[in-house]
Amino acid sequence: MKTTGKPDSRSRLKIGEGYISGYISIFLALISFGGVLCFLFPEIFTTPAYRQSYPVEALRKTLLICILFSFLFALTSLILCKTKKPALLGTIITGISILMGGATVEIKQFNEIGFYISLDWLLLDLLVLALIFIPIELFFPKKLSQSKFHEEWKTDLIYFAIGHIFVQLTAVSIQSPATYFFGNLNMQSFHDFVQNTPFVIQLFAALIITDLFQYTAHRTFHKMPFLWRFHAVHHSIKAVDWMAGSRLHIVDILLTRSFSYLPMYLIGFSIEVFYMYVIIVSLQAVGAHANTRIPFGFLKYIIVTPQYHHWHHSDDPATYDKNFAIHFPFIDLVFGTYHLPDNQWPKSTGLSETKFPKGYLKQLFFPFKKDPAEDQEVKNPSDR
Ligand SMILES: [Zn+2]
Ligand SMILES: [Zn+2]
Repeated sequence: MKTTGKPDSRSRLKIGEGYISGYISIFLALISFGGVLCFLFPEIFTTPAYRQSYPVEALRKTLLICILFSFLFALTSLILCKTKKPALLGTIITGISILMGGATVEIKQFNEIGFYISLDWLLLDLLVLALIFIPIELFFPKKLSQSKFHEEWKTDLIYFAIGHIFVQLTAVSIQSPATYFFGNLNMQSFHDFVQNTPFVIQLFAALIITDLFQYTAHRTFHKMPFLWRFHAVHHSIKAVDWMAGSRLHIVDILLTRSFSYLPMYLIGFSIEVFYMYVIIVSLQAVGAHANTRIPFGFLKYIIVTPQYHHWHHSDDPATYDKNFAIHFPFIDLVFGTYHLPDNQWPKSTGLSETKFPKGYLKQLFFPFKKDPAEDQEVKNPSDR
């Protein structure tokens, strides 16, 4: 029996009722509040590696725009919405941000305190991704009835936030195995040769090679029962959307990414290629989960699109273990795991035969249960 359920039409937010504007007001209010915190306590809330390169004036303007639009959306919600709570909450949080200094807040002088959290990265990425993907999902949705605020969105937001706040910690852990195993190899002349290769060729090579490594890791996570228990967390997403793509167990993140990072380190691509790769991989990883049927034309055969990756999340046994690639579908084609029927989408997504725990902490500890073999709740898709 399927437990993925039909989209709940009752929970869908309708335009014109004032709820959407209310929630946008709260969202912008929280971004503004977090932004002010970053200015006031940079030693705690900003990432040392980014601090020097921030265009402070541009960030102040962004902060001002967030504050103004938060009020504007609160006003819209106040007029349209039956309940005044979202508008009031948005106004109160923005009001506190203004009292704390608003867009003209001074940057406090500070000494390093030995720890920090990357709230700056969380706020910036959340703002940019929300500006790109919320309108896309709102105006070109795949599942019309899938509300932005489905029952799992809070859990997914926690995954998104934790993944960003501790980004440096994860980055160091991902790079450590490569440095540990290959740090002593003297490959400078090879790296010089690679870095003198044209940018586009380097980037293309970086994407293909890392995707081959990612493919291998991803398929192994599906095939090995012990590893599947960690990756099952990602497949427990029922409402696949841009935010839900962040739902990955920390063990899955560390193992898959450190393995995919090995070729980047060994081959020694230029720093520009590395940064471009990081931007592409983040956008594609988020975009592949987006709840949108925006047409990609023939590109859908060349790059991984939402339709392609949603089939990876299908809960239909006939399509288990398909579409492992994250950049190029032809990798799946070569290894016999390609599935992209014309304009069709999976009927439903998730782990249909599974009672998967809800909530970040429960999902964090779930794979570590003492006797996973006896717990038949989460099985490898290929065993089902
Ligand atoms: Zn998978
Ligand atoms: Zn996915």
